[in-house]
Amino acid sequence: MRGALPRPMLWQMRPATTSEQMSGRTLPPGATIGILGGGQLGRMTALAAANLGYRCHIYCQSADEPAAQVAAQTTFAAFDDTDAIDAFAASVDVATLEFENVPITTLERIAGLTPVYPAPAVQAVAQNRLSEKGFANSLGIATAPFRAVTSAEDLKRAVAEIGTPSVLKTVRMGYDGKGQVAVKADTDLTAAWAESGAGPATEGGILEGFVDFSCEISVIVARGTNGEAAAFIPVENRHTHHILDETIAPADIKPETAATANDIAIRLIEGLDVVGLLAIEMFVTSDGDVLVNEVAPRPHNSGHWTMDACRSGQFEQLVRTICGLPLGDPSRRCDAVMKNLIGDDVDDWPKHLNDPTAKLHLYGKAETRPGRKMGHVNFLGKPNEN
Ligand code: AMP
Repeated sequence: MRGALPRPMLWQMRPATTSEQMSGRTLPPGATIGILGGGQLGRMTALAAANLGYRCHIYCQSADEPAAQVAAQTTFAAFDDTDAIDAFAASVDVATLEFENVPITTLERIAGLTPVYPAPAVQAVAQNRLSEKGFANSLGIATAPFRAVTSAEDLKRAVAEIGTPSVLKTVRMGYDGKGQVAVKADTDLTAAWAESGAGPATEGGILEGFVDFSCEISVIVARGTNGEAAAFIPVENRHTHHILDETIAPADIKPETAATANDIAIRLIEGLDVVGLLAIEMFVTSDGDVLVNEVAPRPHNSGHWTMDACRSGQFEQLVRTICGLPLGDPSRRCDAVMKNLIGDDVDDWPKHLNDPTAKLHLYGKAETRPGRKMGHVNFLGKPNEN
């Protein structure tokens, strides 16, 4: 499959078994991939698809969006516009999504007309913090202790059970720390509940024990229609104000911790029966325990380094998986640090262009706003000798 290229380490790959020779069809180059969502993840997926000869049809809200700027075809409509959704589904050979909160009913409607990868059932688990943690626990994979919370009164019961410090989050629609409130021994719980924004629209809240982690890591794993899975190495993620600031590849963790994280990723992608990508965010404690925080069945910000430092980057892997192509080689050619360009950071673009170690990626967003991801830079380091 990879000619003379070095093979990835064995623990990173899990070949399909005979019983897994599923009936996935191969979509040849020239076919059309539908992408729900118009952000930077869709843009970079569309660019990787174009490199392999595919066309992309982006379903989003406006022509300004990053993915719409680079796509062969676009639909600008709401996710509950059933006529637009049906026409989109009829025009594509396969559909995927770059944005987590596409309504499940919309995904199921599309899946009735064309394959959707990862499947709507996977999205349903990942969109809900209670079900993603519960699913991990059902496979024997550890998470922070957690409780469902439905009211301010209920929060008191949950705090009594979990203790403090803890973190209150919305069950749904939370990202980049939105809808998160730290709960300490002296926190006014009625105010904390109100501040979190948890309510019927978010299907309530979740109280999690605060994890005193030594670092945050993630693993991105790809799985094809034939069940073959391949993981990128674990990387360390550093956040500022809950937004990813830097990803360091590889993570500076013990080999056995890396193997545990990789094993968790493979078990989750197989357990969820994902075709496509799964990103798993994890905490590593000072004792070396690995706890799953979140899963995302799509390309992930912490995988952007793979575009320039791996033999096949995450966006290419996604295209390969959903089109029934053989998986690419996820091994890294060199170490890398990915730096997000957030808000005004983007003004440094000329500096990065003059740095021979830097690979600049800009998302084409017209308006710079504080906290907005405008692009990223991959700083390439020493070659990987393995
Ligand atoms: P999340 O939206 O769950 O990805 O959380 C955003 C960030 O908040 C994480 O990357 C952590 O830095 C922090 N965080 C979330 N949950 C916890 C937790 N249970 N314990 C400690 N830190 C957390």
